Amino acid sequence: MMAGIYGALNGGKVTIFEKNDRVGKKLAITGKGRCNVTNDCSNEEFLKNVISNPKFLYASISNFSTEDTKAFFEGLGVPLKTERGRRVFPVSDKAMDIVLALKKAVLDYGCEIKNEKVISLLTKENKVSGIKTSRGVYEFDSVILATGGVSYPLTGSDGDGFRIAGENGIEVTPLIPSLVPLETVEDTAEIMGVSLKNVTLKIKDNQKNKIIFEEMGEMLFTHFGISGPLVLSASCHLSSIEKGKYTAYVDFKPALDEKTLDARLLSDFSKQLNKDFQNCLGGLLPSKIIPFVVAKTNIPPTTKVNAITKEQRQALLSTLKGLSLEIKSFRPIKEAIVTRGGVSVKEIVPSTMESKKIKGLYFAGEIIDVDAYTGGYNLQIAFSTGALAGTSASQ
Ligand SMILES: Cc1cc2nc3c(=O)[nH]c(=O)nc-3n(C[C@H](O)[C@H](O)[C@H](O)COP(=O)(O)OP(=O)(O)OC[C@H]3O[C@@H](n4cnc5c(N)ncnc54)[C@H](O)[C@@H]3O)c2cc1C
Repeated sequence: MMAGIYGALNGGKVTIFEKNDRVGKKLAITGKGRCNVTNDCSNEEFLKNVISNPKFLYASISNFSTEDTKAFFEGLGVPLKTERGRRVFPVSDKAMDIVLALKKAVLDYGCEIKNEKVISLLTKENKVSGIKTSRGVYEFDSVILATGGVSYPLTGSDGDGFRIAGENGIEVTPLIPSLVPLETVEDTAEIMGVSLKNVTLKIKDNQKNKIIFEEMGEMLFTHFGISGPLVLSASCHLSSIEKGKYTAYVDFKPALDEKTLDARLLSDFSKQLNKDFQNCLGGLLPSKIIPFVVAKTNIPPTTKVNAITKEQRQALLSTLKGLSLEIKSFRPIKEAIVTRGGVSVKEIVPSTMESKKIKGLYFAGEIIDVDAYTGGYNLQIAFSTGALAGTSASQ
C-alpha cells in the first residue's frame, strides 16, 4: 500500500493486486491488534535494530525515516503515541485505524485495488511487461513484488512472491523463522501459562561456549517450551538448532547478586525450619512453577528445611539464578512474527529497490532478505522500502 501511494504521488497509474478480499490482513493483527507502527528513533538506531543486511536499508531509511512514518499517519488523521522502548502506536490502540488510513490514502491518491491473486510475472527480454492473475493478463511498465514472508500464512503471506522471484532466476535465500517461540527438551506442559516479569534470559551457544543473548524482561511458559517478548527477541540470535547446541538460563532474581539472594534464602529458611523444602519457596516464585524448579535442584521435595545442606542451598541458588532449559527447536515458521531470508539483497539495487536482473521489477517489505527486532522496526522496513520502490517505479 505504501508503494502504491508513493507510485501514485509521483505520477504513476497504480493498481494494487491483493488476493484476500481485503487489504492489510496481517497489518490488522500486528502489535496484538494495536499495531506498533514504527519506533521513535534515529536512522542509526533503526539500522542497529535490523538483524539481517542492515546496510542494504541505508538508502531507503534515509529516504523515508521513522519521522516520516509518524508524519505520514498523523497527516492521515491517526494520532500516535510513544510507549516504552520508543514503540509508536495509534492513540486509539487500534491497528485497524492504521489499515483504514492506508486504504483510504491508497484510494484518495487514485490507486485501484483489485482482489486478484497474482500467478506469474510476464517479461520480455529481461524487462517487465505485465502480470498474469487468477482473472487475466495485465500489461504494466513496472511491477513491485510486496507479497510479504511466509509466517502467519492465513493472513495471505504464504510465499507466492518467493516462487515468482525464483521462477524468474532471482536468488531467494533460505527462509527461517525469526521472532518465534522456542521448544524445549524439558516438558513444560505442567507450567504452561506461568508468566515471568523482570527476569533475565540468557542463551548460551554451547559449541562456541559463549553467551549470545542476555536481556531482562518478560517471558512465558507454554505447552511446548518458552515464549513471550524476551524469547522472541532471543530467537533472532539462534541459527540452525542442533541437539545440545543452545541452553537457555532464566535468572528469576536478576536484581539480587548470589550473596544477597543467599542471605534472603537463609532468612526465609529460618522462619520455616520444619516445613518441607517444596513448601518454602512461595515468597520467591509463582506457586505453579515451584515443583519444576524443585525438580531442577535435585533436592528431594520433602526434605525438611532444617535438613538442607549448604551444598543443597547452593544448588537452589544456582537454579534460581539460572534455571537451565535445553532448546530443542524453533516453533514452525508459520508461527513466527517475521521470516528471515527471502529475495537476496544482492539481487536488488538498494537506492531504487529495482531488480538487477529484470528491469521494471521492484521489491518491497518482508519479501526481501531483511528482518529486525520487535519494536516497530519490521513495519518501518516495509514502509521505507515501499515508499522507495513506489517512487522509483513511477519514475
Ligand atoms: C502476529 C504478528 C504481529 C506483528 N506485529 C508487528 C508490530 O507490531 N510491528 C512491526 O513492526 N511488525 C510487526 N509484525 C511484522 C509485520 O507485520 C510484517 O513485517 C509486515 O506486515 C510486512 O509487510 P509486507 O507488506 O511486506 O507484507 P504483508 O503485510 O505480509 O502483506 C503482503 C500482502 O501480499 C498479499 N499477497 C501475497 N501473495 C499474493 C499474490 N500472489 N497475489 C496477490 N496478493 C498476494 C498478502 O495477502 C498480503 O496481504 C507482526 C507480524 C505478525 C505475524
